[in-house]
Order: sequence, then C-alpha cells, then structure tokens
Amino acid sequence: MVRIAEEWLATCGGCEVTVLDIGEPLLDLLPKLQFVHMPVLMDHKYFGQTGEKEFEIPEADVGLISGGIRSEENARVAQEMRKKCTTLVAVGACANFGGIPALANLYTLQDLMDTVYRKGRTTEPADNPSEDIPPLKDRVYAVSEAVKVDVGLPGCPTTPELVAGALTALLEGKPFSLPERSVCDDCPTKREKKAVATLKRPLENVQLKEGQKLEDVRCLMEQGYLCQGPATRTGCGGADKVPRCIRAYMPCRGCFGPIRAGANPMVDMMGAISSIGLDARQIEDRMATFNRFVGATGRLRPLPR
Ligand code: SF4
Ligand code: SF4
Ligand code: SF4
Repeated sequence: MVRIAEEWLATCGGCEVTVLDIGEPLLDLLPKLQFVHMPVLMDHKYFGQTGEKEFEIPEADVGLISGGIRSEENARVAQEMRKKCTTLVAVGACANFGGIPALANLYTLQDLMDTVYRKGRTTEPADNPSEDIPPLKDRVYAVSEAVKVDVGLPGCPTTPELVAGALTALLEGKPFSLPERSVCDDCPTKREKKAVATLKRPLENVQLKEGQKLEDVRCLMEQGYLCQGPATRTGCGGADKVPRCIRAYMPCRGCFGPIRAGANPMVDMMGAISSIGLDARQIEDRMATFNRFVGATGRLRPLPR
C-alpha cells in the first residue's frame, strides 16, 4: 500500500478537482493507495485534535502539493511535506512556476496591501490585518524554490492523465518524464508559416465554418489569435495528444510553461510572432501575457514606479 499525502498552498483548488477527475483509472489505482492526509477531502488537524501537538503532517511515500508559496504558513507546510514524504510531486502551474497568483509579483507587497486595504473605490481605508493570519512572503514562490521537488506536473489545472501516469510510474518504480516538445508539435491545424490577419482582440472567438474539422482549420496564430503554442510544453492532450485548448478551438495560453527548464517564453513568443509577419507591439502587456503562468520562476518582478 502506497501512502499519499496531499496539500494545497496558494491555490484555487482546480488541481485537487483534477486528482478527483482521474475517473475510471482511479478505481484501478485506489486499492493500492492510502490517502493519509488531504485537507480538501478529509479533516486533519495540524496540531492534533485539541491543539496539544506540535505542527505535524503524517509520513507518506508520495506527497502531492498544489499551489505556490505566498505566506510563511505555505512555506512551513511545504517544508513539512518535504520532510515527511519520500517523493514530492508539484502539481499544477502554481506549484511549479507560481501560476496565476504569481502575476502579483509585478507589484511590491506594499502596493498590493495599499490596493486591497486602502485604495479600492468601495473600501473603507484600514490598516493591514496583522492578527491570527500568517505573514505574507515578499513575493509568490514556486514550491521548487523552497524545497526539492522530485516530479513536476504542469498545467492550469494539470491533467488527470498526467496525475494518473505519474502515480502509476511511481507505483511500478518506473521513470516518469514530460515531453520536450511544443504544443505546436502536437497541434493538427494547418500551417503555412504566414499570418493571414493582424492580431485579434484576446477574447475574439475563432470563426468556424459549419462541420469544419480541426485538421481543416488554419493555425490559430496565422489567423491572428494570440496562441502561445510555440513557446509552451506539450502534454495536455489526451490519448490522441491533441492539445486541450486547441481541441476546443481556443488558442493555447501557455499553462504548461516553457518547453525546457530555463527557456524564456517571452523571447520565444516574440520570435514566433514576428516570424509569421505579426507585429508583437500590438500586445499591450507583453510581460504579463507571456509570463502568465511562470511568474515565480524569475520572470516577473515589480516594475519601477
Ligand atoms: S494551477 Fe491552475 S487549477 Fe491548479 S491550483 Fe493553480 S490556478 Fe488552480
Ligand atoms: S500556434 Fe497554436 S494553433 Fe498554430 S500550430 Fe501552434 S498550437 Fe497550433
Ligand atoms: S493548450 Fe496550452 S493553455 Fe491549453 S491546456 Fe494545453 S498548455 Fe495549457
């Protein structure tokens, strides 16, 4: 029996839904797994039933962590998970790269506090709360910036297939790795390496003819939809590998992060956009747009005032 501990840090809970969303393969896995800790599903008191113990998470063979590190409490939970779990798996874009919450790294903590507690049009100005809540870190950190992570499952949310695949590999003692290819490499749309339109507004819908199949659709970026497939790691597709958003006729937003560790999605996207004749200067907030999911890993820092 393999013991599993799961924790969520600065997270929306979407990656926990993905774990539950594994569906039928979960039925095959469940008899081999024992969930010893999972706050989203079961009540577990960090300090014992009556607060009589020191902070503690049960020992486990595999630890799953979603969410990034926003507060001192998040950091302490991540350290305890590292101490108690033999193998630690970072689940989702937030845990691996900071994810959407790390867009806050564009601002100083003071600016964020001023905005939330003093500058809102509907807010009665007040001091920063200081009692009974954990202090915030200076910025959002990825889990791997605080503790050693053994396996990373990217995506916002990650996919049930990846979670099931990683758990199965760990159970069988086999290696688990992610593809080092781009979303474009698994995209079935037609490419002619030349844009047929200028960049469209972000929420404009892809236009389809009745009965048109994905294979007959022109590459979304060549049609002017900002698609981050060229700078994003593939792996979000199901058995047929067709990327998740492309399957739904939506451009890729980059949630699987860079194709390789250390790659710079903004530089890669600027190159991809200009190579088909589009003008990247039309994108107003390039820094946030191209680093939307990877802000903790050194990409987003407060802008000068
Ligand atoms: S990666 Fe996305 S779905 Fe997962 S916790 Fe973060 S915001 Fe939620
Ligand atoms: S840019 Fe987008 S639509 Fe075009 S091939 Fe790449 S993933 Fe597919
Ligand atoms: S297509 Fe892009 S944004 Fe959509 S799930 Fe895949 S990696 Fe994430």
